[in-house]
Amino acid sequence: TTESSAPYLQGLNDAQRAAVEALDGAVLLLAGAGTGKTRALTTRLAHLLWSGRARPGEILAVTFTNKAAREMKERVAALLGRPSVEGWWLGTFHALAARILRQEAEAVGLKSNFTILDSDDQLRLIKQVMAAEGVNEKSWPAKSLRHLIERWKDKGFTPDRVPSQEVGDFAQGRSVALYAAYQERLRTLNACDFGDLLLHNLTLFQTRPDVAQRWQQRFRYLLVDEYQDTNVAQYLWLRLLALPENNICCVGDDDQSIYGWRGAQVENILRFESDFPDAKVIRLERNYRSTPAILGAASGLIARNEGRLGKTLWTEGDAGEPVRVRGLWDGEAEARFVGQEIEALQREGHSLGEMAILVRTGAQTREFEERFVTLGLPYRVIGGPRFYERLEVRDALAYLRLLQSPDDDLAFERICNKPRRGLGEAALRKLHSAARSGGTSLYIAAHQLVGTDELRAQTRRPLKQFVESIERWRDELRTTSHPELAERVLEESGYLEMWREDRSIEAPGRLENLKALIEALAEFETLAGFLEHVSLVMENLEEPESAQVTLMTLHAAKGLEFDTVFLPGWEEGLFPNQRALDEQGNRGLEEERRLAYVGLTRARKRAIVSFAANRRLYGSWAAAIPSRFVDELPEEHCEQESDKGIYGAAHQAWGGGNFGGFQSWGDTRYSPGMERARARRERTGTTTAPVIDAKAQVVESTPRRDSRYRPGSRVFHQKFGYGTVSLVEGERLTIAFDHSGEKKVVAGFVTAAED
Ligand code: ATP
Ligand code: MG
Repeated sequence: TTESSAPYLQGLNDAQRAAVEALDGAVLLLAGAGTGKTRALTTRLAHLLWSGRARPGEILAVTFTNKAAREMKERVAALLGRPSVEGWWLGTFHALAARILRQEAEAVGLKSNFTILDSDDQLRLIKQVMAAEGVNEKSWPAKSLRHLIERWKDKGFTPDRVPSQEVGDFAQGRSVALYAAYQERLRTLNACDFGDLLLHNLTLFQTRPDVAQRWQQRFRYLLVDEYQDTNVAQYLWLRLLALPENNICCVGDDDQSIYGWRGAQVENILRFESDFPDAKVIRLERNYRSTPAILGAASGLIARNEGRLGKTLWTEGDAGEPVRVRGLWDGEAEARFVGQEIEALQREGHSLGEMAILVRTGAQTREFEERFVTLGLPYRVIGGPRFYERLEVRDALAYLRLLQSPDDDLAFERICNKPRRGLGEAALRKLHSAARSGGTSLYIAAHQLVGTDELRAQTRRPLKQFVESIERWRDELRTTSHPELAERVLEESGYLEMWREDRSIEAPGRLENLKALIEALAEFETLAGFLEHVSLVMENLEEPESAQVTLMTLHAAKGLEFDTVFLPGWEEGLFPNQRALDEQGNRGLEEERRLAYVGLTRARKRAIVSFAANRRLYGSWAAAIPSRFVDELPEEHCEQESDKGIYGAAHQAWGGGNFGGFQSWGDTRYSPGMERARARRERTGTTTAPVIDAKAQVVESTPRRDSRYRPGSRVFHQKFGYGTVSLVEGERLTIAFDHSGEKKVVAGFVTAAED
């Protein structure tokens, strides 16, 4: 027939073809990494359209990321030889659910222009609800409640459906009542949080069979990629929408389920056949992506997991290069090694765009980024900003800049109310106008204001504390090492605490980034030297036109592939991650192992695993033990190499032995890249932060000009009215006001009054 001779079918094997052509009923494509699941799914989409089985608007296709959705869109258009396909429903669960909800908002008590709250707004609202219900936020952190609510929503629980064993002791068991109150508030505000998008869909379909039916009829075919990472709410949503014909095709790999920590349930795959009794389960066994060596290593590793379906995978061709396993002295040496390898590959003609470094936690990118900047290697960080552009890193840098130069207004403004100290907009406005009128920095204006009555006591107190803290830390800079001080500043300011209390998914990562920042600091002799370095690194971050090395987390790498994949940081506690190891049972560990499997199977031609014998933690060294995953890699597919002495040194450390002499290691403080950047700056005249010697600088608190007022001058003040100056101390005036009594004010806020 014309259908089976369609050109796009030629590139598929028989099993893939079966998955493409089995259009009626439920199909589960269950297969290992790189077997062409996504390719089959994409072709199925093209086939539905090409064969005229469905119009674009009748297909619902779910991808795990927006990027994957874009790629699928392009590929289908290419398969069909069209410039683009319009009008279909292709995107992430959230995007699709939001689209449905816009059309059905009224049925769940919303208007179609409802707003979607971000996690900050969400938290603010939760706090309001807690306050209204009289729950003390000190004993019961709002973030914990947010976390509870998010998990319930992942499981599809509306407040009336939360099972009693899930209630817990939050606010003496009032969590569900708070959840209900929060939902009520959201409705009044015509707003939703992310979890609501699916939850409202579920409520809608369950309470309004007529509406459900309309959508069921509309979407005649459902396609789902990365099915192993769906959570309960997503699963229920799919099942509802698939009715009554169940033309649903899900593709997934139980060995790649890596979002359990976010509520994903690999069981969804396991029960597919019982959910859809007539389901066709198709397995793919041929891997098209990786060399036999890489596939062998990955398969050997994942075989250690107990809870898995198990599958055979094979691939054709020469064995290929064995997976290289490299031990290095420390993180810096590791970054240097990866840099060298990349340059060597580049010399052999390999494109940077075909190389990726996949890390376990976002904080690991820092050392690589710095190395690449030094080498002038273009790189991009996927799934997040580059290290020094990350929110928490910039906040922490602002604290450090303020120690270095308190007159840095941008830094002051960024963190004066982070964590919240009650220095809101109004206080900041006041500070700004005081600074303007006195011609001083915000910091000095703050100094002056806290000694006056210009600010309300609620504002004055925290501001006073804040400037005093900065003063104290600046003093301590003379006696304390800068990494230690940095840690103290982040601790005493409450900044670290703010993230520790944060129950959002990003919070642990942010804390790790802050740790990495302090480690970076330890590599420089002075705070000034470090800040100078940061400004140079930042300056070097221009977007290159050419191909770039990709840096990203293992979680973000799902579904992607590269010729060369570097897998650094395979150390106990880092990967597998300590949090996973702390979990009861082996659930956490097995998820980490799946993550390692995902990492290895991203590689087409070469995979290079590395670990360091030493990691710097808060400026002091800690001996690291190679990850158990290193040992679990089958020997026949690997090649161990390591820098001389690494194992010996590491061994000594495991025995509790003291590491003599390594403090002097890796003191490359000046890099050619920095020299280059400096040279270029001189050429182009671009300015960066001036280099200041932290220890030499003292607070400049002399005002710009002498006060125009003398004791006895008559003045007018916006807030306090008319008065007579009784004392002049620089910019600070003591004034006997005619109607408000004696007050201290800032000279900039009064005008001379004529009597
Ligand atoms: P993952 O589990 O990592 O998401 P996957 O099973 O979705 O992998 P794909 O990404 O679809 O696998 O395919 C892996 C690689 O194999 C891609 O480069 C794809 O183009 C290629 N490929 C898939 N099927 C075939 C085939 N029949 N012939 C040749 N190459 C194929
Ligand atoms: Mg895929």
